[in-house]
Amino acid sequence: MAMQELCRVESRVQVGPGLFALTLAAPALCAVAQPGQFIHITCGEGNLLRRPISICDVDGDRMTIVFQVKGAGTEWLSECRPGDVLDVLGTLGHGFDLSKLGDRPVFIGGGIGVPPMLLTMKAARAAGAQPEAILGFRNKDAVILEDCFRALGETHVCTDDGSYGRPGFVTDLFQVHVSDCTAVCACGPKPMLRAIAQIAEAAGVPCQVSMEERMGCGIGACLVCACELKLREGETGVRYGHVCKDGPVFDSKEVVW
Ligand SMILES: Cc1cc2nc3c(=O)[nH]c(=O)nc-3n(C[C@H](O)[C@H](O)[C@H](O)COP(=O)(O)OP(=O)(O)OC[C@H]3O[C@@H](n4cnc5c(N)ncnc54)[C@H](O)[C@@H]3O)c2cc1C
Repeated sequence: MAMQELCRVESRVQVGPGLFALTLAAPALCAVAQPGQFIHITCGEGNLLRRPISICDVDGDRMTIVFQVKGAGTEWLSECRPGDVLDVLGTLGHGFDLSKLGDRPVFIGGGIGVPPMLLTMKAARAAGAQPEAILGFRNKDAVILEDCFRALGETHVCTDDGSYGRPGFVTDLFQVHVSDCTAVCACGPKPMLRAIAQIAEAAGVPCQVSMEERMGCGIGACLVCACELKLREGETGVRYGHVCKDGPVFDSKEVVW
């Protein structure tokens, strides 16, 4: 059940060009937050619709989000300062199913899909797994959260242009590691998720993907974030899931790529 909490901004850090981390005092939301879920934030009076942002980390009653400035909503959010109060709805969506990870899961994030993988990897480690991360970014300036991931397990960073870490895409590295892992969880651009799903499927490795679609209400009442899913046995026609309510995390085998 989604709840509304007024959250005080505790800290604001610029972590890259157009990239910001906000830590919020959010005791009620932190108490129920699950890895892979998101919150829905009112971004000023001029922006009617709330903006969905993934939960990156939870530490006691503090929640951290990391976001990229895209338009008016995230621009407004980036201008918040410690002491400001945000109107937040959460925690929303179905997150990653941690019971399906096994003892050697791999967490893959691409660009601004990296933040939700942090809390997920943290939870896997707390559950006794030996997690590994593969993080991909456009270039050196876009690299975020590297040290936080390294604190949790082996972490590989790659950049598209080779300006930092290993040159190339996360999928190149995943191809090398897939035979050693028990499951994969991923968040990032759809072409990246599609490629990861194909590699995982070919290797028989369970794969969960966090899908990002443009979103309206965030609670399943409108149809803005519909995502086509494969038909179940006996079903006919077309099957859609709401990314906000049925996702954002889906089993990769359910998604029509
Ligand atoms: C489940 C989920 C989790 C997300 N987590 C993060 C995160 O952790 N960090 C981050 O930087 N971004 C995240 N995003 C994307 C983020 O929500 C958009 O970048 C943001 O809503 C853009 O709003 P804007 O007003 O700045 O831009 P505009 O383009 O002006 O937004 C206009 C409208 O489009 C919607 N919209 C635009 N782009 C997106 C998008 N990619 N996804 C969904 N709605 C969109 C907005 O909600 C708004 O209603 C997430 C999206 C989803 C669906």
